[in-house]
Amino acid sequence: MQSSQFMRQAILKVASSPSFSRFVHRYGPKLGARRFYAGETLKEAIEVVRRLNAEDILVTLDHLGESVTNAEEAAAQADGYIDILHAIHAAGVNAGVSIKLTQMGLDVGQDECLANMRRIVEAAKETRRFIRIDMEDSQHTDMTLAVLHELRKSYPRIGTVLQSYLFRSQNDLAMLQAADISVRIVKGAYLEPPTVAFPLKSDVDQNYLRLVDMALRAGQYVAIATHDENIIHEVEGWVNERKIPLDKFEFQMLYGIRMSRQRELAKQGYRVRCYVPFGTDWYAYYTRRLAERPANILFVLRSLLRS
Ligand SMILES: Cc1cc2nc3c(=O)[nH]c(=O)nc-3n(C[C@H](O)[C@H](O)[C@H](O)COP(=O)(O)OP(=O)(O)OC[C@H]3O[C@@H](n4cnc5c(N)ncnc54)[C@H](O)[C@@H]3O)c2cc1C
Repeated sequence: MQSSQFMRQAILKVASSPSFSRFVHRYGPKLGARRFYAGETLKEAIEVVRRLNAEDILVTLDHLGESVTNAEEAAAQADGYIDILHAIHAAGVNAGVSIKLTQMGLDVGQDECLANMRRIVEAAKETRRFIRIDMEDSQHTDMTLAVLHELRKSYPRIGTVLQSYLFRSQNDLAMLQAADISVRIVKGAYLEPPTVAFPLKSDVDQNYLRLVDMALRAGQYVAIATHDENIIHEVEGWVNERKIPLDKFEFQMLYGIRMSRQRELAKQGYRVRCYVPFGTDWYAYYTRRLAERPANILFVLRSLLRS
């Protein structure tokens, strides 16, 4: 296994330990967690959206949170997303939302989750916004796609995410293309076993390009979500060679990562969307960001030494 993969897996494993979680919750803001989310309130998030829109950067808002364990909590999380859609509309900003289905009750039951998502879809219809269903770990992939297909029957402005580390993603892409469902392509952020995912980063990267190529050739709108300069460069080459219209895809990156590159791409005329998380439940999101880049751990250690 490559050392970066080993490091990533080690960090994700440590992150699941309760004592590490307690430590990071206590010192998180000092450890640089704040860099990765827009603030704790919706008001702060909308301000960030305004600032990004002013730089021609589109946004997808994520209300931080992961798997909930009861129906009441899931319904409350859905209410939160309905408020977000109305706030986006009222502010007149250019943003959609990204949603994790486990936050909407997928682990409580698929029907509960679907009922919550239907309420959100109604609000998205009223406010004419796009909903992106984030993809979580591979145990949830089939259920996520099943819920998506149900929702797509009544609302076309809904899409999901495919992860290039999973062996299955090419088949899933073909299936989503046949159903005319918009896709965001990512490498994948969870700890997955080698029975379902490529263990080598080089294979994940190669599969990423394969998926993007497949999506661009089909001519369906695709969101290319990566900070990887080699991939961005390769896509730019394809766009020039094959004269791919710039309104056929968008680049997406995360808030707090490569912000100057996001601005630069927007200035070059590309569509760029920033994934902006906000809220108080930042722990799992933050540890996935640490795991992606060992240099972030050094940053954390330096912050600790300084404090
Ligand atoms: C808009 C968006 C939405 C996403 N949605 C999902 C989702 O629904 N499901 C899912 O599993 N994953 C999701 N991800 C995360 C994704 O799967 C990867 O874990 C993450 O994007 C890192 O991969 P990379 O493509 O940037 O390439 P990498 O090869 O990991 O990184 C390339 C370069 O980008 C920079 N970089 C990458 N990560 C960081 C970081 N954390 N801090 C600082 N610099 C960094 C570094 O310069 C690095 O060398 C999403 C990512 C984006 C950008």
